Amino acid sequence: MRTPLVMGNWKLNGTKESVSALIKGIEAAADSAKNVEVVVCPPTIFIEQVANLVADNSIEFGAQDVSTNVSGAFTGETSPVMVKEFGAKYSLVGHSERRQYHNETDAVVAAKFVAIQANALVPVLCIGETLEERETDKTFAVVETQLKAVIDVAGIDALENSVIAYEPVWAIGTGKVASSEQAQDVHAHIRTWLAEQSKVVAAKVQILYGGSVKASSAKELFAQPDIDGGLVGGAALLVEEFVGIIEGAK
Ligand code: PEP
Repeated sequence: MRTPLVMGNWKLNGTKESVSALIKGIEAAADSAKNVEVVVCPPTIFIEQVANLVADNSIEFGAQDVSTNVSGAFTGETSPVMVKEFGAKYSLVGHSERRQYHNETDAVVAAKFVAIQANALVPVLCIGETLEERETDKTFAVVETQLKAVIDVAGIDALENSVIAYEPVWAIGTGKVASSEQAQDVHAHIRTWLAEQSKVVAAKVQILYGGSVKASSAKELFAQPDIDGGLVGGAALLVEEFVGIIEGAK
């Protein structure tokens, strides 16, 4: 069985004070949800603070992005080795905001996926279609292309130690959540498509849904057979909402 995973992507938000309050606000819920893995992805500058705050609870943490390089003359970048040193378990890769605002192509995403795994972090590979692509029936083709770009470089077996986050771009930060049927439809397609290449990977890989998940929508989404949890943006910044989402994954 796949462990339900609830992951908060804090994006570019937080202060030292709000980071402490948020972790303190969610830790009891994370500790009591024994069957659910709870993860937060803070801005890189808060990683050490988060590492200290989660030392005595069950919350894990990850980076939102890392460099393909481990060290050198790459101004402004963060090495996967550095976030690993502070105890991170995961790194997001291919988030639509990185693809859109930082011109991260499928090739860059594949290189980052490889760098993340090479440094003993678990990549959370974000994929998903735009509204235009959905409306022109390209959803399945888009997610297949995004997955194939990584598989061609890393190999299918690499996905066994990764997480996939299906995040329809039209649902991210828009308040428009995909219906549980719409999400399950794509998740099932992804799993079937992966099974054609490796039944082991298809059975093992957690596929999270992301896109305006809220406490009110989490339970129904997570009850779908191929939805193994959520990648949560806005609602991950609100204690009550995030706790409700963790409860929905129990
Ligand atoms: C995200 O950033 O991964 C995300 C899903 O954001 P939101 O929940 O705000 O749509």
